[in-house]
Amino acid sequence: MYYMSTRNSELKLKSAEAIKKGLSEDGGLFVPTEIPSLSKAEITKMIRMSYIDRAKLILKKFLTDFTAAEISDCVEGAYGTGFDCEKVAPVVKLSDGKYILELWHGPTCAFKDMALQILPRFMTCAMKKTDEDKKIVILVATSGDTGKAALEGFKDVEGTEIIVFYPGDGVSDIQKLQMITQEGANVYVAGIDGNFDDAQNGVKAIFTDEKFGEKLAKSGFALSSANSINWGRLVPQIVYYISAYCDLLADNEINIGEKINVCVPTGNFGNILAAYYAKKMGLPIAKLICASNRNNVLTDFIKTGEYDKNRPFYQSVSPSMDILISSNLERLLFDICGEDDKKVTSMMGKLAKDGKYKLTKALHKKIESRFWGAYCDDYYTKVQIWKTFTQTGYTLDTHTAVAVDVYEQYVAETGDKTKTVIASTASPYKFNESVLSALGENVDGKSDFELIDMLAEKSKTTPPASLAELKNKEKRFEKVIDKSMMPELVCETLNVKKCSSKS
Ligand SMILES: *Cc1c(COP(=O)(O)O)cnc(C)c1O
Repeated sequence: MYYMSTRNSELKLKSAEAIKKGLSEDGGLFVPTEIPSLSKAEITKMIRMSYIDRAKLILKKFLTDFTAAEISDCVEGAYGTGFDCEKVAPVVKLSDGKYILELWHGPTCAFKDMALQILPRFMTCAMKKTDEDKKIVILVATSGDTGKAALEGFKDVEGTEIIVFYPGDGVSDIQKLQMITQEGANVYVAGIDGNFDDAQNGVKAIFTDEKFGEKLAKSGFALSSANSINWGRLVPQIVYYISAYCDLLADNEINIGEKINVCVPTGNFGNILAAYYAKKMGLPIAKLICASNRNNVLTDFIKTGEYDKNRPFYQSVSPSMDILISSNLERLLFDICGEDDKKVTSMMGKLAKDGKYKLTKALHKKIESRFWGAYCDDYYTKVQIWKTFTQTGYTLDTHTAVAVDVYEQYVAETGDKTKTVIASTASPYKFNESVLSALGENVDGKSDFELIDMLAEKSKTTPPASLAELKNKEKRFEKVIDKSMMPELVCETLNVKKCSSKS
C-alpha cells in the first residue's frame, strides 16, 4: 500500500517514508491510497485477542512495508508495560447503551499516549528502513498534554533527541511538574517567557529557517515533529475503536454486525477521524458524533457546511479542545471530495487567506450523513460531571464530560437509541481542580497534590501512580528562557556550535 498527499494525489510513498516526513512538502497530509477492509471473520477472530494482538493485526494492514516482526516490536514496546491496565483501552458501561472507552491508562494520563507511545518506535524503524543516517530531533511547542506525552514516548528512543518548549506561565502546576521532572538521556525541556503562541511561533520559525536546518544537517541532525498530522500518530488510533467493538461483543453487549455510534470530544479532529477510517474499513459504525466545547467551529461546519475560524478564541475548562483550526479535517475533505487534490488545495488556500471556506451542497450532504455535531460550554460541562457522578458514581474529566453532554443532546434531538461508545480522553486526576469544583468541593488554596488526595477520596478511585509520584521526583529542567533564545538553546542542547542563523 502507498501513501499520497491530500494536495498531490500522484505522490506515492511507502508508509515508512510518510511517517519519517510527517508532512508532505506540498503542505498536504499523507493518506493511504486505499483503505484496507476488515471482515466479519476477522472481527470474530479478534474477540478473544489481547489489545496487543488486535493492534498487530490492524496495523499490518496499513504499514505494509513494515515486517511482522517490526510491527510486533513496536506494538509490544508501546503497550506492553507502560499502561496501568491490562486491557490498555478498556470499555466501561455507564448505563444501558452508553459506554465509555477509557483512553488514558498510559504514562501521562491522557489519550495522546495511545499514539505517542508508538510513534517514536515507528519512526526509528522507518529511519532504519529508509537508510536515514541523521539523528532525528523532535521539536515540540506544547500547551500541556502533548509535550509530556511526546517526552514519555521519545525518552531514550535510539536515534532521536526531543526538545520541548512550554509557556512559562501557561500550563498547570501538574503539567509543569510532569515535564520538568522528565527522565531520559535524550530529553530537554525549557520554559519560555511567553504564551503558547510564542512557543509555537518560535518552533515554526526554527523549522522554516533553511540555513539553520542546513547547519544542523551538517552536524548530523534532521528536525521532525510529533504533532497529530503525522500518519504514524493517526493509525494507532484506529485500533482502539475496533478493539472497543470486540470488547462489546465479548461482553455480549452487542451482536456481531450490530451498528454502534461513536461520540468523540474533538479538537484537532484526529481522534474522530480515526473512527471514520475504522468505519470505512468495515467496522459497523452508524453515526460519528463530534463534540466540541465553546470553540464550536466544527459544530457550525457540520451543521452549515461552512468552516469559519474568524471568531473569538475562548479558554475553557477543557483546554485540549481549545482549537480553531482542526488540521486533520483536511484528510476528511480529501476523502469526501473523491480524492480531488485540487479542490482540497483550493479550500485550504481559502482557509489560510480568509480564514474560511464553504462546501458545495453535495459535499455538505455527505458530511451530514456521516457526522452529527454539537457543543457544550463550561457551565454544562461541570453540570454533566456532577450529574454523571450523582447518577452512576463514575467520575468524568472535563473533556469527556463535553462528549457525554453532546451525546445526550444527540439522543434528545434525534431519538436515536443506537448503542454508543463515548471516547474518554483524559483521567479526571489531570483536571482535578475543575472536576472537584464541579462536584461541589471547595478547592481554594489547595496544592495540586492535596487536590489529588481529595479527588481520590471523593471519587473512591486510586490516583494514577505517575501523577502521585511527581511529588518525589527530581526537578531536572528549571530553565525559563527568553523566546528569542530558542534557536540557541537547540544548538546548545545538541552540542552544535554557532548554528544560529545570525552568526
Ligand atoms: C488532544 C485532546 C483532545 C482532542 O483530540 P483531537 O484528536 O485533537 O481531536 C481531546 N481531549 C484531550 C484530553 C486531549 O488531550
